[in-house]
Amino acid sequence: MNIPFNKPFMTGKELWYISQAHANGHLAGDGVFTKKCSTWLEQHIGCKKALLTHSCTAALEIAAILINVKPGDEIIMPSYTFVSTANAFVLRGGVPVFVDIRPDTLNIDEALIEAAITPKTKAIVVVHYAGVSCEMDTIMAIAEKHNLLVIEDAAQGIMSTYKGRPLGSIGHLAALSFHETKNIISGEGGALLVNDSTFVEQAEIIREKGTNRSRFFRGQVDKYTWVDLGSSYLPSELIAAFLWAQMEDADIITKRRLSIWDTYHQNFELLEQQGRIRRPIIPVDCIHNAHMYYLLLPNLDRRTAFITALKKILIWAVFHYIPLHSSPMGEKYGRKSGELHETQLLSDKLVRLPLWLGLEEYQNEVIQHIIAEL
Ligand SMILES: *Cc1c(COP(=O)(O)O)cnc(C)c1O
Repeated sequence: MNIPFNKPFMTGKELWYISQAHANGHLAGDGVFTKKCSTWLEQHIGCKKALLTHSCTAALEIAAILINVKPGDEIIMPSYTFVSTANAFVLRGGVPVFVDIRPDTLNIDEALIEAAITPKTKAIVVVHYAGVSCEMDTIMAIAEKHNLLVIEDAAQGIMSTYKGRPLGSIGHLAALSFHETKNIISGEGGALLVNDSTFVEQAEIIREKGTNRSRFFRGQVDKYTWVDLGSSYLPSELIAAFLWAQMEDADIITKRRLSIWDTYHQNFELLEQQGRIRRPIIPVDCIHNAHMYYLLLPNLDRRTAFITALKKILIWAVFHYIPLHSSPMGEKYGRKSGELHETQLLSDKLVRLPLWLGLEEYQNEVIQHIIAEL
């Protein structure tokens, strides 16, 4: 038995759709498969516009250009997140302002956001950790009161909802990831979701190297030219063809992941009652997508011992983010709002367990080993 932490799931139709894209002879971006995927996202998420990108990182970079981040503008975000959440804004001269997380969901603590707002604050970037929603009603109300924009880093959040609303449909803008470690994949891949329609046209322009090429192809202008900042953010049709196979099976993929997640959750209930671990907490308003199953161990030493013991029997459990505020770049370009006690504590205790389609076959054995090491 060798149980990797992640194993990309293939639906079986990916190569078939790639061969169709090949036969179509349209390999660059924005062909029929890109259209299918973006329409699927618009219908399933209910955003005004979905634009496929080559990564979630790229989508966040478009968002930073779109909201016109200027040097010194402050962007409120959790420290417990992936580097791209911050990097995209720092590239435009923005200053990440790190706020602590909630101990239950490990999402940004909405109660601490207002204290982080200054006259320089431009936006709040929320991260739906493990595909479990942030407290969006409160966050949107704070943003409205202070005239701020909200960007959802929904990299892990596809197929999850908050009060019945799909993640990615709530903030002014949102970013999804289709990286092979996520639920719905294309190797590398992502999407920018636009909910505030005033951003739609400019988002298309930024994604197309700063040109009005999309308008030209729709016949809305008679020549296309350089009209804004931008870069090449769109994926090839080959990638979109792969992604389409995954989107078609998104319901099945989510259902199977949830079943694996639930099996872990039930089997660790007793350990939690005994105080040996803490399991994930899903607020009542949230339906999650089983992006991740994690445990919180008592401390860093116990976690290290646990990961090492499992590694010896070839079960690959892993820790997650080094908080950005304590990274070299976070120290250089960002600042903390208050003390980030929960971020520090929880990041030391968290361990992620293998979760991929096909694990079902080995899961009971894996669980027995895990229980033996806790
Ligand atoms: C995976 C991830 C990203 C980056 O996604 P890419 O598609 O690899 O660029 C950004 N933010 C969060 C929270 C992520 O989990």
